[in-house]
Amino acid sequence: MTKRSIVFLGTASSIPNPQRFTQSIAICGSRDCILLDAGEGVQIRLASVGIDHRDVKIVALSHIHGDHIYGVLPFIESLAMKISSQKNVSTTTLRIVAPKNVCRYLLNSIDVIKMGGMDKVLSLECIEAGFLSKEGLFVESPNKDIAVYPVPVDHCLEEAYGYFVKIKLGKVELGVYYSGDGVCREQCLNILKILKPSIVIHEATFLDYADDEARAVESCHSTVSNAAQVASNINAKVLILTHISARYRGDELRDFISRARKIFSGEVYIAQDLSKIPLDFINVAES
Ligand SMILES: [Zn+2]
Repeated sequence: MTKRSIVFLGTASSIPNPQRFTQSIAICGSRDCILLDAGEGVQIRLASVGIDHRDVKIVALSHIHGDHIYGVLPFIESLAMKISSQKNVSTTTLRIVAPKNVCRYLLNSIDVIKMGGMDKVLSLECIEAGFLSKEGLFVESPNKDIAVYPVPVDHCLEEAYGYFVKIKLGKVELGVYYSGDGVCREQCLNILKILKPSIVIHEATFLDYADDEARAVESCHSTVSNAAQVASNINAKVLILTHISARYRGDELRDFISRARKIFSGEVYIAQDLSKIPLDFINVAES
């Protein structure tokens, strides 16, 4: 059962390996799902966890780095094939929320999609995250159980976003913040203090060893302390660390948890590929 859950599809930083694919997370409400980033192989990962591609109504992409977006075109192709193999084919709209340059990249690739005649069954709508963020607008899924809002983060790029996702579970609403890549600075923190996500899924590309902080600053990534500080500052209840570098394993992974706990008093986890968090079983919902 993948409905009403957060499912980690890819949790690696930069380079995929058999254990960890590159970044992608699915969040499913009672009916609709959203994909947060789409690293390579995401359409295979969705099949592995039993999420029907057609249930993904929104794809929110954080920034233009390949480890976050190279899976989106294969996903679109698989989705279109699934729709066209249905008995009663009707044109479906997939809403993509992304920085301007990512929308441009996708729309430039549209010829590939048109070539297979897929544009007859699937229409793509790319909504610029910068516009939503400026206007204070959420994008809602068709069944209105998922809504998403972009939060600007600093990743040494013109545009990079984290995403706040609101999931309606009956009368209860749950807020999740996914950092994308980068650092949540003052503007980001101020937005999160208003939106109050209970769950923070944050990149922790670096630990807190000798030269980690300098390398994090240089690449505009977060350390585990930066991630824990965000969760603590906004009074979240759960912190899930992701975007895990292959340079850390075993004891070092335990250090992620212990160092985050020194700063953040809530629950701390490290994301694993194909792991699921059922939303009905975590006591973080606010009525
Ligand atoms: Zn990345």
